[in-house]
Amino acid sequence: MDCLFCSIIKGDIPSKKVYEDDSVLAFYDINPQAPVHILIIPKEHITSAADITAANSAVVAHIFEAASKLAGEAGLSDGFRIVTNCGDSAGQSVKHLHFHLLGGRDFTWPPG
Ligand code: 5GP
Ligand code: ZN
Repeated sequence: MDCLFCSIIKGDIPSKKVYEDDSVLAFYDINPQAPVHILIIPKEHITSAADITAANSAVVAHIFEAASKLAGEAGLSDGFRIVTNCGDSAGQSVKHLHFHLLGGRDFTWPPG
């Protein structure tokens, strides 16, 4: 399967990693939308949030544990945002589940 984030997990495409364990990888987004912009992904290929099931959802809890830890380490005590775009209407450009951890500036609500 031709998947950009699976290639990053394998190390075939370089990335600036900030956290890694058996099931999760976190790395800096190549086109940051905030002073802190980290992508957190499962090592298992899951296409999007629409493909989370009882069989694979444990990794999502683990991703949020990593997000909390990374936000603390990045000093985002004023707040941060976690986003996952799901499908074309939401602007998902990479079809491997990923969570954007964004911080270091104020965010508007509702999102665009
Ligand atoms: P999406 O638009 O699917 O929600 O988010 C995909 C994200 O992946 C974008 O923010 C984009 O900047 C990031 N991205 C795309 N290609 C690469 C890459 O090769 N390396 C890294 N680190 N980020 C990437
Ligand atoms: Zn993948």
